Amino acid sequence: MYSGMIGKIDKAHRYAAERDRFQFEDLRVTIHGNNDDHAVTYHEGAWRCECDFFRHEETCAHTMALEVLLEGMVEVAHPSAIEPQAAVS
Ligand SMILES: [Zn+2]
Repeated sequence: MYSGMIGKIDKAHRYAAERDRFQFEDLRVTIHGNNDDHAVTYHEGAWRCECDFFRHEETCAHTMALEVLLEGMVEVAHPSAIEPQAAVS
């Protein structure tokens, strides 16, 4: 491998570790739910999911899972929904 490529690979790994460099604009993901697959899309800060829960609540476990996964790289529609669960006392 030539040295130019090695430098690019090193840079890619540094970039990948710095999440604030990335801002997703568009995304389409299939999530394998427990019972079915769900298509989730993200476009200019707005999530959509085809599941029934999303249709009523405009958020769901599928979109929230992606917000957790892509933290810092997408706008979060419902921040309180993805906060770590407070310990039950
Ligand atoms: Zn959903």
